[in-house]
Amino acid sequence: MRGVTGRDTADVAVIGTGVVGLAAAHELLSRGLTVTVIGPRPGSAPGQASAAAGAMLSLFSEAGAGQPPDRVELEVSHRLKAFARYPAWLDQLTGLSGQPDVPLTPGTWVAATSTDRDHLATIARAAYTAAHPAEVHDHPVIDGLQPQIPPAAALWLPSEPSIDITRLLAVLAAVVARHPHARWHTSPATDVDLGAVEVRVHCADHQLVTCAQTVLAAGAGIPALLDDRGRELELPPILAGRGASLLMDAPALATEHTVRTPNSAFACGTHLVPRAAGTVYLGATNRLTLDPVPHDGATLDEIATVIRDSTRILDRRLSTAALMRAPIGYRPYTIDHLPLVGPTAYPRVLLATATYRCGVLLGCLGASDQRPGGDSEVLPETLSRGRSAFGVTMPCANPSRVLTWPGRTRHPCRKPRSLAAEL
Ligand SMILES: Cc1cc2nc3c(=O)[nH]c(=O)nc-3n(C[C@H](O)[C@H](O)[C@H](O)COP(=O)(O)OP(=O)(O)OC[C@H]3O[C@@H](n4cnc5c(N)ncnc54)[C@H](O)[C@@H]3O)c2cc1C
Repeated sequence: MRGVTGRDTADVAVIGTGVVGLAAAHELLSRGLTVTVIGPRPGSAPGQASAAAGAMLSLFSEAGAGQPPDRVELEVSHRLKAFARYPAWLDQLTGLSGQPDVPLTPGTWVAATSTDRDHLATIARAAYTAAHPAEVHDHPVIDGLQPQIPPAAALWLPSEPSIDITRLLAVLAAVVARHPHARWHTSPATDVDLGAVEVRVHCADHQLVTCAQTVLAAGAGIPALLDDRGRELELPPILAGRGASLLMDAPALATEHTVRTPNSAFACGTHLVPRAAGTVYLGATNRLTLDPVPHDGATLDEIATVIRDSTRILDRRLSTAALMRAPIGYRPYTIDHLPLVGPTAYPRVLLATATYRCGVLLGCLGASDQRPGGDSEVLPETLSRGRSAFGVTMPCANPSRVLTWPGRTRHPCRKPRSLAAEL
């Protein structure tokens, strides 16, 4: 029994304690299930995407001029669906946690140079289509910011907010930790045994968690956890977008709203998100990798990239602001950039991941759509094979869409190619 020193049983083991895992655990607990969460506490999880996130709730501003209209429509519909639930979800969490409110900070400016202003039309169209306001301003001065290169135009999206992710994670963690039917193992999962009637999750501290079902919400850590078993479970490759962000003490910048550029080169643009007490969040780089190294710190090059872009495009005074932290996070994503939520080929193992650049927004949707199933299946019927909480068909539901595990990757829409070529 591999030196097991302690045992625990639960209806569900949720592996991963970022925003997606904690949101899923909260939902399962509120439906009367016993849940063991496995993963580090907030604030002690190097490489966690959630902790490094700007936490813009980007309803429209992630849309880009190069995307086909039906793809914009699909992605925006997921985000609107999630956002519709957000205020009630936050109220419920803060009520249960006994902690102060987690406010939504309204309003996002999307600032564009003359070369990327095409994106503004796509973003504005997405907002108008959803009956949300969007105002185009030519040659604007945004919130008193002093960029080296003033924007040619900017789009004001008053209904697109941001949130302080540190506070959201603290509230989620408190709600889960204080629930009488929850246990929390901070030692990481090292292996998942798939039995006929149960799943056994082994932890690094030799604890064994036996459960009826497990939710894999370990983000970019899922491939290392499953190794070759990913193929058995018919999972598509889960890749990682390494992102560095900066937390700065910048009281001179009295910005009340998020200011960002359109997406560029896979990244969610250059962005500034106001945080409490004169601090601002600056983001972010996005470098694709097959080999996430969670304990790596940000490199000087990553820090320099964020500072260079933000002083050029947002405010030149940022170069003299004090750097407080430079977290690294690995965004979990799939080749088609769509989330993975639902059962794998082995129905006792479910996925809740691959939210890529929008997990802080979408985390609430994945959690809220879960429903308890029948006697033998404790997890949600909405996550049944072939469906997902995001309305996206699971790749494993349709054999023609199945992607094989890294090393033998096949894209459904193209001739088989190597994973490196896909990137
Ligand atoms: C720089 C940056 C900026 C971003 N900005 C935004 C934004 O503005 N808005 C937005 O909506 N989204 C944003 N995102 C994306 C968002 O952060 C992610 O989509 C979301 O946080 C993913 O959440 P998750 O819980 O799936 O993964 P994570 O937050 O990465 O959590 C996974 C957890 O699993 C744990 N884990 C890994 N392996 C194991 C194991 N074997 N056992 C137990 N636990 C394990 C990890 O320690 C981690 O805590 C950003 C991401 C980055 C990196």
